[in-house]
Amino acid sequence: MNVICKSFMIEEFKTYVDKVDLNTWKPKFPVIHNTSAPTQAQYIGWHHRSDWTPEQWGRNLVSYYSGLGWNGCPHLFVGYDKILVLNALNVHGTHTPSWNKISWGIETAAEFENEAFDDGVKTNLIAAVAILCNKAGFNPADFELGVSGIHFHKEDKGTTHQHCPGKNLIKADFVAAVANYMNENFSNTFVVPVFEASHIHIPESVSLADTAGMSMEELTSIKWVQVQLNRLGEKLNVDGRVSIKTKEAVQRFQKKMWLTADGIAGPVTRKALKIAK
Ligand SMILES: [Zn+2]
Repeated sequence: MNVICKSFMIEEFKTYVDKVDLNTWKPKFPVIHNTSAPTQAQYIGWHHRSDWTPEQWGRNLVSYYSGLGWNGCPHLFVGYDKILVLNALNVHGTHTPSWNKISWGIETAAEFENEAFDDGVKTNLIAAVAILCNKAGFNPADFELGVSGIHFHKEDKGTTHQHCPGKNLIKADFVAAVANYMNENFSNTFVVPVFEASHIHIPESVSLADTAGMSMEELTSIKWVQVQLNRLGEKLNVDGRVSIKTKEAVQRFQKKMWLTADGIAGPVTRKALKIAK
């Protein structure tokens, strides 16, 4: 394993990345994960142990991965406090079935199904991914599955981690934040997808706040979805059936809105449909 095992603050990480030579191996995109275990709460708890460091955790991870017979591991582990480089950034790692040879694996020390994506871990993850994208010359907003743009682990059809990195890490917001960070810090001029303010804070879950103001029809009717899609330019039969054509139209809309393109009109997609123009 080509292990670095060093942790950095954002500015130090930038300095470190500046010196990495990507001529030996350069990925096509980053893949975002959560560790799930540890949760962020557990990770924060570890800091109360006197002998604990991110590097110590890194060494434990390496022996764990070696025990699995892996010859690589994820490249980064981003915590609320530090950014730990584990696998060398110019050597491919092991983190997702389909894209190990062509992607950076970015783990986040949290779970994001119940834990919020905010504060230090959010700041560090946005900065770390922006710094890597800048280094490699990636436009984070130029997404094509398996080809370019920021990927989430759950988008890999080969994975069993179908929720990674967790519903509270919303891709549309994250991609926009990385693009913004790059525009502000590295004088890029990426077109940042603009969302209605109300869209930005919709987590991918049904909670009272998110769906407040939406009727039962808007939350459950297939016909309503078809009417909205037609309003936005599709030409679907409004028959209330989840036909392949309807599913594909939902997927097109989700892609445009930077949502997970699963073709399923869940609450987030429905809220986005309601406010889309
Ligand atoms: Zn994952």
